Amino acid sequence: MTHIAVLGSTNMDLVAYVDKAPRRGETVTGREFRTIPGGKGANQAIAAARAGATVSMIGAVGNDAFGPRLRSTLEHSGVTTDHLRTVEGPTGTAHIVVDDEGGNAIVVVPGANGTVDHLVPGDEGLIASADALLLQLEIPLEAVLAGAETARAHGVRTILTPAPARPLPPELLDATDLLVPNEHEAATLTGIADPFAAGAALLDRVPRVVITLGAAGSLYLTRDAEPLAVPAPRVTAVDSTGAGDTFVGTLAVALGEERPIREAMAWAATAAALSVQREGASASMPYRSEIEAGYT
Ligand code: ATP
Repeated sequence: MTHIAVLGSTNMDLVAYVDKAPRRGETVTGREFRTIPGGKGANQAIAAARAGATVSMIGAVGNDAFGPRLRSTLEHSGVTTDHLRTVEGPTGTAHIVVDDEGGNAIVVVPGANGTVDHLVPGDEGLIASADALLLQLEIPLEAVLAGAETARAHGVRTILTPAPARPLPPELLDATDLLVPNEHEAATLTGIADPFAAGAALLDRVPRVVITLGAAGSLYLTRDAEPLAVPAPRVTAVDSTGAGDTFVGTLAVALGEERPIREAMAWAATAAALSVQREGASASMPYRSEIEAGYT
């Protein structure tokens, strides 16, 4: 079984469903409110566990009511939480507005995630024993870098989702095996709007890039082959929250199983397409049997 370590954020998503998102100064009445476990780290961990990997989560939750709920949600999906610390103060929260076209706008308040600025004893051994380390940017950059360099030192594949988009230190990209930005993140990192050209520019720093393009699918670029475009299944999206995390978590499992890149991307696209047809982030992520049934 593929073993994946995830070093990243755990948030409670506070989600308001509206017909149309409010503009500045405007108040709108929502249709519904839900609290849904999320955070890019936890989402990717749950996606990978549901896709069939053994997954361990490194991070932190607060000592409020959200902390135990997030821990049990992770465990319920099969994620090991021995390396998920409980710290003084609030759990991270994400304040999300989902409109009736399935689009979203998000404010993240880091809370406990902000305390994850270094590795603690035991984290290194966990990372060293994994087949891949999944990283995102919702915890302090120092820890992301420490995780990537630890993985690199032990020959463990690092998969970095550069979200939320921000400039990255060269050392982090140097320790990244596979970078998975969406098209906006790729543009922010490079200053280049065209995903093919942005991907080509990113290959100066990382050996492999997958750029996700929403309903248009995804694009794989590597130094020694032509770019590969893989379409997404045509579906009706009701909530795209967590689509990217579902894609990355599932892709990591497929790559850990040594599937060829085209098949791994198509498998991840199948999982992400299933997730956008349901509401919620982690709650919408499919199990392996559903991915296999939908994969063609
Ligand atoms: P999010 O922030 O909403 O989690 P993202 O912006 O990180 O997502 P996207 O590029 O929007 O990432 O989507 C990731 C993947 O999810 C896409 O490559 C695609 O496979 C799938 N996907 C997203 N939206 C759709 C859609 N409307 N129909 C089918 N597949 C989709």
